[in-house]
Amino acid sequence: MAAQKTIPPAIPADLAMEKKIESLLAKMTIEEKVGQMCQLTIDLLQKRNNPFAGINPQKLTVEDLKRILANYDFAGDYDLSKGLPTQDVLMNIFMRIQGAEQSKAFQLDEAMLDTIIGKYKVGSILNVPNGVAQSLGDWQRIIKRIHDKSMKVIGIPCVYGVDQIHGTTYTLGGTMFPQGINMGASFNRSLTREGARISAYETKAGSIPWTFAPVTDLGRDPRWPRMWENYGEDCYMNAEMGREAIIGFQGNDPNLIGQNHVAACMKHYMGYGVPVSGKDRTPSSITQQDMREKHFAPYLEMVKAGALSVMVNSAMNNGLPFHANYELLTKWLKEDLNWDGLIVTDWADINNLYSRDHIAKDKKEAIKLAINAGIDMSMDPYEWNFCVLLKELVEEGEVPISRIDDAVRRVLRMKYRLNLFQKPYVDLKDYPLFGGKEHAAVALQAAEESLVLLKNENAILPLATGKKLLVTGPNANSMRCLNGGWSYSWQGDKADLFASDYNTILEAFVNKFGASNVVYEAGVTYKAGGSWYEENVPEISKAVAAAANADYIVACIGENSYCEKPGNLTNLALSQNQIDLVKALAKNNKPIILVLNQGRPRLIADIEPLVQAVVNTMLPGNYGGDALANLVAGDVNFSGKMPFSYPKEINSLITYDHKPCEHIGKQMEGAYNYDAQVSVQWPFGYGLSYTRFAYSNLRVDKSTFTANDLLTFTVDVKNVGSFGGKESVLLFSSDLVASLSPDVRRLRAFDKLELKPGQTTTISLQVKASDLAFVGYDGKWILEKGDFRIQIGTEVLNINCSETKKWETANR
Ligand code: BGC
Repeated sequence: MAAQKTIPPAIPADLAMEKKIESLLAKMTIEEKVGQMCQLTIDLLQKRNNPFAGINPQKLTVEDLKRILANYDFAGDYDLSKGLPTQDVLMNIFMRIQGAEQSKAFQLDEAMLDTIIGKYKVGSILNVPNGVAQSLGDWQRIIKRIHDKSMKVIGIPCVYGVDQIHGTTYTLGGTMFPQGINMGASFNRSLTREGARISAYETKAGSIPWTFAPVTDLGRDPRWPRMWENYGEDCYMNAEMGREAIIGFQGNDPNLIGQNHVAACMKHYMGYGVPVSGKDRTPSSITQQDMREKHFAPYLEMVKAGALSVMVNSAMNNGLPFHANYELLTKWLKEDLNWDGLIVTDWADINNLYSRDHIAKDKKEAIKLAINAGIDMSMDPYEWNFCVLLKELVEEGEVPISRIDDAVRRVLRMKYRLNLFQKPYVDLKDYPLFGGKEHAAVALQAAEESLVLLKNENAILPLATGKKLLVTGPNANSMRCLNGGWSYSWQGDKADLFASDYNTILEAFVNKFGASNVVYEAGVTYKAGGSWYEENVPEISKAVAAAANADYIVACIGENSYCEKPGNLTNLALSQNQIDLVKALAKNNKPIILVLNQGRPRLIADIEPLVQAVVNTMLPGNYGGDALANLVAGDVNFSGKMPFSYPKEINSLITYDHKPCEHIGKQMEGAYNYDAQVSVQWPFGYGLSYTRFAYSNLRVDKSTFTANDLLTFTVDVKNVGSFGGKESVLLFSSDLVASLSPDVRRLRAFDKLELKPGQTTTISLQVKASDLAFVGYDGKWILEKGDFRIQIGTEVLNINCSETKKWETANR
């Protein structure tokens, strides 16, 4: 730990708190210590009523069945007058009973609590009871009971963690925000901070102290099913938004998380968004340069902002699972940054080291590898034998007690920082704003600022008033599609049940344009109860017939909700039924407004030329329908810009910060006149508005600079159209010649401003010269002398670095 001596702590130590931690640690037994390092799922604590208990299935009588069924309101659906029903019907009855039991209010299994907290001293519980959002009252009841037990038998509070990833995902009545990808498209830092602050407030209202957010994986592969959880493909954007989210969740003092805040958990450390196969939790092959320069960037920024915990990437890089990577966990995070926060595994990932990845022969060896690499807490999440095995490893000298003490200090420190010893649960009356109008207004604004207008031929939008609209497509009337995964349930499949008070796109259009002006005919529908990608037999001709009376067609297409591995796909193209629907509608010669509602960019090159307007809504959440209607009607102007490159063809997956050779843009000359072109449907940073912004007069305060300089770029921006609007001003740099082939462009700064028609403003964007450095082949940061091109809007200028600087430290 030599490096720590010279590096100031990422979070300044609270000495009084450290003293408390030491004195508590000194009193703890080894059982208590390993227990604190274990996190189990609430599923284990669920008391399950088994109405068939004590009945031999071979000997089930019709009287037994009648007696059991009498407890359920669907008993009348079955005629038992002629004896036991067929096997199929019996199976159906079992399933319905099981479903009904699961949907009952969660009952805590006290005997299991005795085992988990009493015997094994487990320090953390996660997840949502019954797999669905709970009421505030239920959250409070459950967490209070667990906490009281923990204080009674261990004297240490239990820390409960929940995935509240886009607003208050798992608390009924809470405010749902757009998903991370939309927040990226908003290019609005303060909205991201405000969204996290509201989510923290509403999360804490249920006594939940810890959220597994923000998600700052770089979504650089559109095939990956978790593209939408993070802020897009760019590392600077993820770093900026990640920092804002940390401050929003935790407040300004990481040593004292107030009663309206929660501990954040940065995830998933790191490089999760670039699986070579495009499938979730599969290997990446990230270079040392990209790891340090791009994937680490958000974590560096968030640690500096005081992030209290991190969750590890479930996959592996170059064959080594992240959960066993000492260099990345201990060296880069804990030592190089002198960070005293907590590292938790992702779901069952210590088990995966032996059962999936084969780098350990059994669970015990897997625990040894992970804990020695730097893991502090295992999201096990079903087995408390972690505690038994880890204790054995300590006794056998395979895991040093100093490592255990370091991990336990980190767990205790987070509990002290959360003030859980003093105030483990809250009083509902202190949260009057939960789910209220103020929070809804921010979520609506976030949705409005995140929708991206990608095409608007002949200024077809805003829609003229009094026109007849056909609203069609499988995404037109679904809250599930607007929200995506992590919405009331993991896969988001129950959103239509829980979010019925909010407006689907169809409902919002009816409200905005009048019921008499809107006709709905889906044409294609998703299969209820099926896999997310399954569709019913299409009824395209019905939609085509309905279009006959319409002036405009609003075709809402994309994807149904999914999450993680179940969201893997084999073909990035939009479903054939949906392509057929748009093609058939286009034959009507009515203008089509294509509304994309999807977690990742499905290929639509075939149908894009057939439509007059395209709006990319991505996953805008419960207020997405209203936001779209407001924008399409012209009550609000579009201001979202693409946070990722939208591909056109499957063999042209590329990010905006690619190497020059990946897209030459013109043919090579001479004998080697191969085509070095990559097609992109819409580039990173692209987005239209109802107005136009003209850029002029770009200037810089230092046209020659060295590594310690701060550069200030100034540009005039004028709204030259007739609509008021917001504009995200993006600054890109290009290193023109470097010893490693440079990225063609890099986003270095952005800001969002609002201008009335005709108004001009002068905006300044600052860039630290050291931010123009890159990580060289030897893994060290270097800023090389030479020219850099800076671009803001249409304006370009060159600046010159007069002196090369190489950093010997890990970070600049
Ligand atoms: C996901 C994480 C999540 C965790 C706990 C995992 O499967 O990868 O993002 O935080 O489950 O629910």
